[in-house]
Amino acid sequence: MNIHEYQAKTVLGEFGVPVPRGYPAFSVDEALNGARQLGGPVWVVKAQIHAGGRGKAGGVKVVKSMDDVKAEATRILGSTLVTHQTGPKGKKVNRLYVEEGSAIDKEFYLSALVDRETSRVAFVVSTEGGMDIEKVAHDTPEKIITFSVDPATGVMGHHGRKVAQALNLTGDIAKQVEGLVAKLYNAFVTKDMSLLEINPLVVTKDGKLICLDAKIGFDDNALFRHPDIAALRDVTEEDDKEVEAAKYDLNYVALDGTIGCMVNGAGLAMATMDIIKLYGEAPANFLDVGGSATKDKVAAAFKIITSDPNVKGILVNIFGGIMKCDVIAEGVVAAVKDVGLRVPLVVRLEGTNVELGKEIIAKSNLNVVSADDLDDAAQKIVKAVKGNV
Ligand code: GDP
Ligand code: MN
Repeated sequence: MNIHEYQAKTVLGEFGVPVPRGYPAFSVDEALNGARQLGGPVWVVKAQIHAGGRGKAGGVKVVKSMDDVKAEATRILGSTLVTHQTGPKGKKVNRLYVEEGSAIDKEFYLSALVDRETSRVAFVVSTEGGMDIEKVAHDTPEKIITFSVDPATGVMGHHGRKVAQALNLTGDIAKQVEGLVAKLYNAFVTKDMSLLEINPLVVTKDGKLICLDAKIGFDDNALFRHPDIAALRDVTEEDDKEVEAAKYDLNYVALDGTIGCMVNGAGLAMATMDIIKLYGEAPANFLDVGGSATKDKVAAAFKIITSDPNVKGILVNIFGGIMKCDVIAEGVVAAVKDVGLRVPLVVRLEGTNVELGKEIIAKSNLNVVSADDLDDAAQKIVKAVKGNV
């Protein structure tokens, strides 16, 4: 789960991490109130969306008068920002953050993430702050320094010194960096983060170290331990279909293709997506209904697939083991009764209660193409979709 920048700064602030003062705002009036409380003379008006690259897209403005706070808040709030991370459709701005402005001397990059290779929290540090870090990694990889932290010891003095050295910092600022690395690590581990990115981390003209931007992603599987974090969820930033799927505890990921897939088991779902690609089309989603799905859960899954306007055909591929084919059939039939079916549907059922499942579908008078095996099913749905598009 991701959270907004202003929420991330609040979380980090609780761990003693230096962040600018600021106020979130859902209206221009709230933005003006926030600006008044901060007092100026410089403010930053920032769009709050779950995507970076806002600065270049006009979603971050440094202003020097209340009139300009008002003008920028009015312009940004409700607008749609298109950044290199939002995709071409962009994201609508529903929240703002008004912050005290900082006089920047130097900008750096610093992030922490779970490194699967070492099974540790790793830090990534670069002098090239405020830039697209992927581009830095590609063009000048020598400017990126990484190291991981042994969970048995946690952050030690030498980690902090390594960061300070990587950023060419000495004296008091180097001391501040050492403290910061320890606090960030503490926040990361305590809150079960999966990603913590500060870009830019800045040194101000009066010699202070400040996290000027903050992005945090949390491990969904650990959210139950952090109700305070779970409460920060902003579902308007998430894919509607994924939000709906989460309600039913379905493993669903929206993708860009044209063939909706309903499958049981993650491995079979991956194989189904692969074979769709092999025959020249692309999956519209990953969906594993799991082994213990009920008729209602299957119906919900089917409705989520049909609600996607990109879906030009649906492939139901079930290998019934724990999952029973008749439950799948009943769920599909119930969903179609409710919402209809505008696209071709290919069903491949195999395993427990397969005869019963086939009978339920046959009796329903649904316009279904049945298939004997996965290969046959994939070819049939790709053919149907190509005729349909
Ligand atoms: P992003 O573009 O979505 O990553 O948003 P950031 O929060 O990183 O802001 C983009 C850029 O705006 C930063 O890299 C800074 O250069 C600039 N910026 C943000 N806050 C301030 C500030 O308080 N003072 C100044 N001078 N520049 C700022
Ligand atoms: Mn940034």
